[in-house]
Amino acid sequence: MSTRIGIMGYGNLGRGVEIAVKEAPDMELAAVFTRRAPESVSILTENVPVVNTADVKDWTDKIDVMIICGGSATDLPKQTPEYAKLFNVVDSFDTHARIPEHFANVDAAAKESGHIGMISVGWDPGMFSLNRVYANAILPDGKDYTFWGKGVSQGHSDAIRRIEGVRNAKQYTIPVESALEAVRSGSQPELTTRQKHTRECFVVLEEGADAARVEKEIKEMPNYFSDYDTTVHFISEEELEKNHAGMAHGGFVFRSGKTGVNKENSHIIEYSLKLDSNPEFTTSVLVAYARAVKRMYDEGQRGCKTVLDVAPAYLCSQSGEELRAHLL
Ligand code: NAP
Repeated sequence: MSTRIGIMGYGNLGRGVEIAVKEAPDMELAAVFTRRAPESVSILTENVPVVNTADVKDWTDKIDVMIICGGSATDLPKQTPEYAKLFNVVDSFDTHARIPEHFANVDAAAKESGHIGMISVGWDPGMFSLNRVYANAILPDGKDYTFWGKGVSQGHSDAIRRIEGVRNAKQYTIPVESALEAVRSGSQPELTTRQKHTRECFVVLEEGADAARVEKEIKEMPNYFSDYDTTVHFISEEELEKNHAGMAHGGFVFRSGKTGVNKENSHIIEYSLKLDSNPEFTTSVLVAYARAVKRMYDEGQRGCKTVLDVAPAYLCSQSGEELRAHLL
């Protein structure tokens, strides 16, 4: 029987899960849930209901795994523990500093109700975390490096939009090529924040706003921009829509390690992602982990889990025999 998937929240990730489930031979979409009026939300699939979250309790025996697609800032800290009381759940919680607290809340809810709550699935946290862990296990004597981009940072774009006189803005985080090369050389460089990434901003001003003041405020903003080399371009709303509407992203995870009696041999592990669509890639990861959740639940596992707790074979629709024949 196929795994029945529910989607909680229909934004970029909700839509991406819908697309990824269609590609999964062993899954079907049971329903999409939204806090908005269901008739105001149109989905891509015919014959799948859009349901208001008020009626979610009617679905506990019709859904195997609920994929929670709310935002990390305010939705997921509430939604994931709440729905772990009713369903097996997967989320993409990406506020790294708050993962321990989120884990504890989801663990308590999932253990009490007898479900699995898989948190922080995606690419960072997610695939990048797995690569950091594998690389640390293999090369205990070494250094880790993570670079992000080129891609849009939602948080930095929001920070610019809060400046007086700014109508709209997009901010790209860009890894510095010479820093990537220095890491690849095996020299294990010490890199400052400024040496690793640059920031490029495309800003639409309100009528009559002072461009020089806005540029100064951006470049001097503590935590967000003051530690980086930042470029600011002022453009029209039309240009922003035409050239900066995409959701591409990506990044690099490295471990540079040494082995040998005198540490004479260097090893570089590099994992990189170049994503045309951040949400569609993230949801492809979420759907693979939903498959694992169903298998782990059927085996009797309960409580909160992360990508670090999942055996790779559980992610694939192929049998162990097929994996050993073709991918091992
Ligand atoms: P989003 O599009 O803003 O959607 C978030 C929620 O907002 C939806 O669940 C939806 O809930 C509501 N919503 C969406 N469109 C709406 C509209 N037009 N009007 C009113 N409400 C609307 O966010 P997203 O791009 O899917 O991203 C969600 C989270 O994923 C991010 O906060 C980020 O932290 C996380 N993420 C993680 C990774 C990773 O690698 N781990 C990667 C990418 C993103 P309702 O349907 O209930 O209204």
